[in-house]
Amino acid sequence: MKTTACPLDCYDACAVVVDRESLKMTGKEGHPFTQGALCSHLYRHIKEVERIKVPRVDGKEVSMQEALEAAAHAIKDAGEDFLLYRGSGNVSFMQNITEHFVAAYGGWTTEGSLCDGAGQAGIEAGRGVSLVLPPEAIKEAEAVIVWGRNISVTDPHMMNLIKDKTLIVIDPVKTKIAREADLFLQIRPRSDFYLAVLLSRFMFMEDMEDKEFLKERCEDAEWYYDFLRTFRVRTSLEKCDISLDDLGDLLYQMQNKKCVFLVGAGVQKYSIGDQVLQAIDGLAAVIGAFGKPGCGVSFLGDSMAGFKNPINYSPKRVAKPIAPFGRFKTVLVQGANPLAQMPGLNKVEEEISRVENLIYFGLYENETTKKARIVIPACDFLEKEDLRLSYGHPYVQPMPKIKEAEFGISEYELTKYLFDALGCKGLEDEKWYIDYMLKQCIEDGDLLKSPAYEKYPYEDEFQTDSGNFEFLEEYEDDFDDEEEGLWLLTPKSPHSLNSQFRRETHIFINSELGFKDGEVVKVSSEHGEIELPVKVCDDVRADSVLIYAGTPSVNRLTPHIMSLMGKSACYQEVKVKVERV
Ligand code: SF4
Repeated sequence: MKTTACPLDCYDACAVVVDRESLKMTGKEGHPFTQGALCSHLYRHIKEVERIKVPRVDGKEVSMQEALEAAAHAIKDAGEDFLLYRGSGNVSFMQNITEHFVAAYGGWTTEGSLCDGAGQAGIEAGRGVSLVLPPEAIKEAEAVIVWGRNISVTDPHMMNLIKDKTLIVIDPVKTKIAREADLFLQIRPRSDFYLAVLLSRFMFMEDMEDKEFLKERCEDAEWYYDFLRTFRVRTSLEKCDISLDDLGDLLYQMQNKKCVFLVGAGVQKYSIGDQVLQAIDGLAAVIGAFGKPGCGVSFLGDSMAGFKNPINYSPKRVAKPIAPFGRFKTVLVQGANPLAQMPGLNKVEEEISRVENLIYFGLYENETTKKARIVIPACDFLEKEDLRLSYGHPYVQPMPKIKEAEFGISEYELTKYLFDALGCKGLEDEKWYIDYMLKQCIEDGDLLKSPAYEKYPYEDEFQTDSGNFEFLEEYEDDFDDEEEGLWLLTPKSPHSLNSQFRRETHIFINSELGFKDGEVVKVSSEHGEIELPVKVCDDVRADSVLIYAGTPSVNRLTPHIMSLMGKSACYQEVKVKVERV
């Protein structure tokens, strides 16, 4: 038996025990987060997808050596007009090593995110750094506010930690966890900022603020109260589509309780995403819910916080959500599927069609491999040495090589080849990078923890310039949310991970809109249109439609823009029309 970690892009980063003979995988008993269980992505879905087995150049199957030579030639031919575009379907540490090549070679890479960049920017503005909230802090909570996070899908192991607590769910969709909640507020999409501001204001009005925390640990709390009062109560309630009674119920459920907020990426898939997270953090600061047992705000933490990174990154970067592929002669796409997952897909297709040499390096066939000139299969997580950090918990897990690679090569092997072929200097042995990271970890019995680990994050100080929590200072929003149309919601689906595995193919619509199950409809936005069959679902509000992320072509509807801060994709900053075909 060998222990490794699940490589999939998921909060839980499970510890996995692998039988070396049968390769059967089970969740590691006793791991503080995994607790012996894995989800169906790892024990079933990952085995169902079509792996890339043979390298290709110009549509012909070739040897690995020929594919690597073609890739090196295409990169050399491009000179500095070379872009590395990496994805996040698999998130182990050594996947970053290709960045080291790009830095040494002098090419371009990306910055920002298709996922959590806006939220992270908001958190960093308030707290300085986005630390992971450890399970031990969550366990001690008395009330858990699950805000825009469908935890039974995105981090199923969290369910164990929040049993027997007051459960409040805030979401535009009636999720599975919403059905189990003591209080569920089905707010209007893109109104999370207003709810956070309203709640913060009422905490002051109802004398529920933590005066000592505000005085000792926050900057300009009095000014913040004045700022909160610039938002009219009635307007904010209307924006959220909730009543004063709903707000009262929420305050009542939180009153005198140690509160943990579990915030999902959906709340920040907008241009204002940073302000949403800073406002939710601001609410937590108003009630003193940082640095104490049973308190905190969990978002996608910065898994590299506290580490000195041995990998160099190119200073030449383009914003990931709006990457101008057409500017580059050669683009290396690594473990990503921009021709499905990037917002503003019509524009992305046009950009990528202008790339002379599109190189794909990854595990699975997808929309992007079909357009690639050079396709290089990657090996899977059992076939290489690696390291798993996590944005959902503080544990660091070595990932030893468990079997020989059948089809592909590792990120390190690709990097080593390119360093040698293109005469670059400065690459150490693979083990050196892994050891460099491991040496920085905190040992705790047989567990390793991130060097940034704090049982109660921000207990002593925030990592801002002042050392205190810093509130949002202004609110800026140009989007017209009164614009006609239905809100588009694009959450993660239970059966797919980004564009991997069993992708959904339907649009989910409230019965009030009058469509029938199976009926094909045209869905259009100012960015494009698609046709999809309907599933009637009253868990979705009647002013919204839901199309899961990963549904083929959904991104023809989404905008080719990025957030005001954090260079993040704004998948939900759009209204759509639905018509019978
Ligand atoms: S819950 Fe997440 S980390 Fe755990 S096995 Fe499933 S996908 Fe992997």
